[in-house]
Amino acid sequence: MAVQDQVSNNALLNSAFQALRLGSIKPMGWLRNQLEIQKNGLTGHLDAHWEDVGPNSGWLGGSGEGWERGPYYVDGLLPLAYLLEDQTLIEKANKWIEWTLASQKEDGSFGPALKTVNHEVAQQDWWQYFIMLKVLTQYQEVTQDERVIPFMTRYFHYMNNAVKDLPLKEWAQARGADLLLSIHWLYERTQDSVLLELAETIQGQMIDWGAIFRKFPYQRKQNEWDHRIHVVNVAMAVKAPAVIYRQTGRDEEREAVYQGITDLMRYHGQAHGMFSGDEWLSGTHPSQGVELCAVVEYMFSMENLVRILGDGLFGDILEKVGFNALPAAISPEWDSHQYDQQVNQVMCNAAKRPWVNSPDANRFGLEPNFGCCTANMHQGWPKLAASLWMGTHDGGIAAVSYAPCQLQTSVADDTDLSLTVQTEYPFREQIRMDVALSKAAAFPILLRIPGWCKRPEVRVNKQWQQLQVVNGFARIDRLWQDGDCIEMILPMDVELDERNNHAVNVQSGPLVYVLPLGEQWIRVRERERFHDWEVYPTSAWQYALVRDAAFERTEQAVSHQPYQTASAPVKLVTEGKILANWLMEQHSAGDPPLNPRPYPGEATRLELVPYGCARLRIGEFPVL
Ligand SMILES: [Zn+2]
Repeated sequence: MAVQDQVSNNALLNSAFQALRLGSIKPMGWLRNQLEIQKNGLTGHLDAHWEDVGPNSGWLGGSGEGWERGPYYVDGLLPLAYLLEDQTLIEKANKWIEWTLASQKEDGSFGPALKTVNHEVAQQDWWQYFIMLKVLTQYQEVTQDERVIPFMTRYFHYMNNAVKDLPLKEWAQARGADLLLSIHWLYERTQDSVLLELAETIQGQMIDWGAIFRKFPYQRKQNEWDHRIHVVNVAMAVKAPAVIYRQTGRDEEREAVYQGITDLMRYHGQAHGMFSGDEWLSGTHPSQGVELCAVVEYMFSMENLVRILGDGLFGDILEKVGFNALPAAISPEWDSHQYDQQVNQVMCNAAKRPWVNSPDANRFGLEPNFGCCTANMHQGWPKLAASLWMGTHDGGIAAVSYAPCQLQTSVADDTDLSLTVQTEYPFREQIRMDVALSKAAAFPILLRIPGWCKRPEVRVNKQWQQLQVVNGFARIDRLWQDGDCIEMILPMDVELDERNNHAVNVQSGPLVYVLPLGEQWIRVRERERFHDWEVYPTSAWQYALVRDAAFERTEQAVSHQPYQTASAPVKLVTEGKILANWLMEQHSAGDPPLNPRPYPGEATRLELVPYGCARLRIGEFPVL
């Protein structure tokens, strides 16, 4: 608390919650399995199969790629390595850290030498350093390595002068909030006033996202080069006004976050909780794409928004995107991914679709369309796992998202807390938390009550709790004893969200449910290990749901990889009919018909599965 008290005397507003240092939360159960699967697939082996993060990377002293790809990769590899406590991965991640720390020059700058083009040194781009600085903050938290804070201090002193002559431009101008996160992180540890000066300079050079989100001008599908409508920039920028709010204290910055998300969803929202963007923001049609980089960056934005603003709404969005859109774009074995996913995705191949990205953007592969997602996708699960719980300013803890884990931290001035969360949420409604304490202690536990949950139930040691939900959290204050047990039930009613053309998507709890199609995977490019695939349907997709048909929930065991249709841990069984008038348009499912015309005959039993299970699917249905 001492650090935070000092901060509040200065120019940086406290965040509502504090991130727990990387390593405090150990993922378990299905979430740990996701991390293991990722380790055994692309994250653990990418360096041996993709030159851009291989031994010749500029970020390892080689002559290869020296821009964003190395830092992107380590930004996911490093937290994965330490969450799994996997020595091989830790050594792999630490190679990048050691090279980076050793690369610092006298003036404080670091990183690969700038390339020369026609004997002229390329102009400074600041963006790639933002990523590596985020990596270093995580590395310092988990290892307490004493070199990191002086290293970052020297760099920011250098930057404080250099950025006045060479201001942020392009990507860096759009993504300055990610730099501010690291500046704030360091300021909380050193109270160095130069950091506040730098933060103000950066804020002044950034795109004014607050102004954009307060009066959102991009209401239609966009088609021209502009950093302000680039889907990954926007996914990152949603947190920018809140980050800047810590510097200015202006309520309008905080409000801009809410206005921005509301308008993004109104004009570009998709069933899985993201807004579309197959390069540029691209409207609400369920066949528009969403880039995987935007998915993982939006998750990171939500993790920061809940930390800074303390509103459970951002945990709701984090879960919806993380539990649906993230797994859907990656193969179950984590050996290929898509650049762009569609909600109504009936075929993944390199045919021209109504978007700017190249036709192969929705193939599953090593680097479909462009390699940014290949490098950046690794941060999704590890950062979600590291953000499941946060600290409160009055010595307690807050649940941001629910997944099986064990949390170790100190509460109420130096009492050791170990909290074991046993659950198969989001596939089940029950969550059990066991409290182990070094001594009895009074502190609050804030439980996020999702906005979709109408009848939450919480018991402490079998006693029902009266819940008062404020900002999405129910606060339980008591003298906690070793051995206390919290049991939660979050009933997941089935809800139909109406979309354009009176189509609907089906939601239950944080999961979106879709009709999975039979999938035939055809290898279109063979490599040593990570191949490229097209996926073709082996069953009909043109189904409408029958209005007012029941949804029967069925469950089967949560398997090692629950995100595949064959092992879907939960299904909703309902009825539908094939339509005669739902057609393909531009190699995708066309508009859900406004007047759906079914073939005559009985309705068919349909088994809907969680969105992330199905790589081919219908997620937005016409209704009969
Ligand atoms: Zn990308």
